[in-house]
Amino acid sequence: MRLKSKLPDVGLTIFSVMSKLALEHNAINLAQGFPDFNTDTHLLDAVSKAMLEGQNQYAPMPGLPELNILIAKKLYMDYGWMPNPETEITITAGGTQAIYSIIGTMVEEGDEVIVIEPSYDCYIPSVVSFGGVVKTYQLQPPAYKVDWDAVEAMITDRTKVIITNTPHNPCGVLLDDSDLKRLEEIVTRHQLYLISDEVYEHIIFDGHVHQSVLRFPALYKRSFVVFSFGKSLHVTGWKTGYVIAPPELTVELRKNHQYNVFSVNRPMQHGIAYYMQHHADFHALAAFYQQKRDFWLKLVEDLPLKFLPCFGSYFIIADYSDVSDLDDLAFAKKLTMEGGVATIPMSPFYQKGSDAKILRFCFAKKEETLIEAAERLRTYFK
Ligand code: GLN
Repeated sequence: MRLKSKLPDVGLTIFSVMSKLALEHNAINLAQGFPDFNTDTHLLDAVSKAMLEGQNQYAPMPGLPELNILIAKKLYMDYGWMPNPETEITITAGGTQAIYSIIGTMVEEGDEVIVIEPSYDCYIPSVVSFGGVVKTYQLQPPAYKVDWDAVEAMITDRTKVIITNTPHNPCGVLLDDSDLKRLEEIVTRHQLYLISDEVYEHIIFDGHVHQSVLRFPALYKRSFVVFSFGKSLHVTGWKTGYVIAPPELTVELRKNHQYNVFSVNRPMQHGIAYYMQHHADFHALAAFYQQKRDFWLKLVEDLPLKFLPCFGSYFIIADYSDVSDLDDLAFAKKLTMEGGVATIPMSPFYQKGSDAKILRFCFAKKEETLIEAAERLRTYFK
């Protein structure tokens, strides 16, 4: 008996593939995006304390009220918009679950969804799972800027949703104020909805400012905005994030969310709430990761890889066309097995693949890890 696949074109995610290969070949994992350093012990202590004190049963479905209140205040400080903690904030099991639940809430058979490519790997399969039709707009290297006129020209009477991501994974580029204004115009004029993936909101460099949808009231009215504690607190394995959306949209999202995960791990929510009140400094992340980006760029400056500008996220992409004609998946595998450094090829971020010779490197690593990785690359390219 064979089950008819809803996702016939999907295999294991590239992150799992490359992490597995890295492990098998003892390669340094600059592939899957996660820090190799631990988080602040104050946060670990706060979570442990919550567990020891018995905070181990279900949290309320939308999230712990005190955490939602702290998030509302944080967003007000950061973006000048205070969502209602009871009706506009939903704690999720990370960004990917959030996005899946949002798409499940909105997308019906035949609805068109505009995805900007390269795109984070979960968007397209999630749309396809719910019977949506994916329309892709291609960003062009090296600037990876959106031409909003071209995006607007793709809209038909079946178009329902646009998905955006800033700071962008994998390209490390940003949407600026004029992008958001244009997006606001398009979304409101065509009565679309927006899913805005902002999980790298605090990892932004060179004095750039994160242009959250929350700064644009008319756009926010039609948006689901996704954030991640995993990225902002160095705890990707905790799978904890949240969605901000206007009450009418949140009501519908929660119908879906409550049967998807019901609620999210309670001790983490307690610990994060305590940490946000006493220790968290989200704004320190920008300088912290900018230093890592610059440290990495210095280490690799004499290598035959052309690193592209990175303004945000903890990823940086590089063109390897001077060293190999192999396609990016083959080259990433070879570099893992023979060079001892795992990266992510760019093509899985495209529905139909890509022949650009580009790899993504994650620099959310200890300095010693980055030094060792650069050393291995230097030896390999000699
Ligand atoms: N967000 C991480 C990345 O881009 C991966 C998360 C995952 O493995 N699903 O590398």
